[in-house]
Amino acid sequence: MAVSLPVSSYFSAIFIISRLMSIVGISKHWNIMNISSKLSVPPLDVADKLSVDPSAVESASRDFGHIAKSVPKAVLHPSSVQDIATLVKFSYDSSVPFTVAAKGHGHSVRGQAMAENGVVVDMASMKKHRNGTGIRVSSDGLYADVGGEQLWFDVLNATLKHGVAPVSWTDYLYLTVGGTLSNAGISGQTFRFGPQISNVYEMDVITGKAEIVTCSPKKNSELFYAVLGGLGQFGIITRARIPLEPAPKRVKWVRMLYKDFSGFTRDQELLVSINGRRDRNALDYVEGSLLMDQGSPDNWRSSFFPPKDHKRITSLITNHGIIYCLEVVKHHNDQSEDTLDKEMRQLLKGLSYMPGFMFEKDVLYAEFLNRVESGEVKLRSKGLWDVPHPWLNLFVPKSQIADFNDGVFKGIVLKRNITKGPVLVYPMNRQKWDDRMSAVIPDEEIFYAVGFLLSSGFDDREAFDDQNEEILQFCDEAGIRVKQYLPHFTSRDAWIHHFGSKWETFQQRKHQFDPKMLLSPGQRIFN
Ligand code: FAD
Repeated sequence: MAVSLPVSSYFSAIFIISRLMSIVGISKHWNIMNISSKLSVPPLDVADKLSVDPSAVESASRDFGHIAKSVPKAVLHPSSVQDIATLVKFSYDSSVPFTVAAKGHGHSVRGQAMAENGVVVDMASMKKHRNGTGIRVSSDGLYADVGGEQLWFDVLNATLKHGVAPVSWTDYLYLTVGGTLSNAGISGQTFRFGPQISNVYEMDVITGKAEIVTCSPKKNSELFYAVLGGLGQFGIITRARIPLEPAPKRVKWVRMLYKDFSGFTRDQELLVSINGRRDRNALDYVEGSLLMDQGSPDNWRSSFFPPKDHKRITSLITNHGIIYCLEVVKHHNDQSEDTLDKEMRQLLKGLSYMPGFMFEKDVLYAEFLNRVESGEVKLRSKGLWDVPHPWLNLFVPKSQIADFNDGVFKGIVLKRNITKGPVLVYPMNRQKWDDRMSAVIPDEEIFYAVGFLLSSGFDDREAFDDQNEEILQFCDEAGIRVKQYLPHFTSRDAWIHHFGSKWETFQQRKHQFDPKMLLSPGQRIFN
């Protein structure tokens, strides 16, 4: 479809097109007139925002994982939603389309936000141009309109100023809204409020056809459900409307230790069974982790245990090999110590943790939510943050979690004894997820998130990859029906197996919203 442009815009369009063509390597004999005549969106000044600067390209070729490397032809630093749409439109209309990957904060670990020979959209650039409108809290405080490029840390601070906050979080807040909504966004609140993808009212999305579409459960619902958990395959999220609730002031934060896995999971499952959004008897956060012989019972996810208790916790770990740590939180608003204690005692009544091994803290709500940052600062100061992260995240059905403990935690992880970094294990409820969304979870009402959030050196990563491989192979052979979270596969068959009954829909949606397979090539599903 041709558009008529004023003469000055026409020449600027020709200039931009030539620049784009040369950057993405479209051959010279290509007819520029043909391309511009097909543009239905007048090209704005995107050429100026495309960078081939070596440092920009290098940074777009890396991520938190320090494992994958894919070099793009250029990086777009957009200053508006229209800039991104113009870029996608240009590729879509081209007879030699190039791929486009939105990069949130680059906290993927296997190159998911990269685009080999394509263009990486540096979403962070949008922040500078939002003029303070990147996070807007509604006048009634019931929701916030948030740019896809915004960090959850900034969402927290902006909403707290109004005495409100989202209810579903990730453990770490320096992740973007667009990045976590493309996966799921899980943490200890998920059992009660669902993942972050279950807490979105509507979104603005740029599809692979460069259409800018507002979608919600009522409007363009197919796109809405496709994008949530859609691994960036269907569109670039430029705005999400997130529900808010009154924010608590403080949290009571408790950890309890177990030597026995069955007692640990029985208690976790009991606690997550009380999960009504408005249920006053429900906890606000339930997680769990393994404590293994790593020097200190604390790790980068949070310093928690009082230093005076480190010695006796460490000797417990030495005696048992693995200790299981149940972690819970209850929000409060400056209740008296007495009332709070009574309430907590009631909530934790009958749990079977080891006597003498319950630890508690009372901290500000924001301090609790941002608990990982201090660990990051410490690791950065020791040069241990920007190292390889061969992470493996799995969802394990409840009926098979005991076999997983025997075969994986005790059988593989303990024996190999290379685990450096947190290992999380906590249950969530399927009913809090929405099966129309693209995210993939096990087919059981309760399932566990298990995260091996390991760091390796640059020289010894292979041993960690081998461990991950052994874990997946064991599950396969033992018939443990795990699903990967933040999935990474290298073959089409593995992706088809991962999506299972959702594959047909996933593929149809790809043809509908990104028929030229332009978006998020780093996931390696269609590219
Ligand atoms: P990126 O890594 O930049 O992008 C991820 C994918 O989303 C890519 O495919 C990219 O193309 C696509 N994408 C990015 N922005 C957009 C957009 N606006 N629209 C459409 N697609 C987009 N996850 C949890 O669920 N819970 C946790 O507690 C948690 N903790 C973490 C802690 C740390 C230290 C780290 C490094 C990661 C953690 N994660 C957690 C994983 C995190 O959710 C993923 O890494 C996710 O990809 C978000 O990172 P990002 O914003 O940097 O996105």
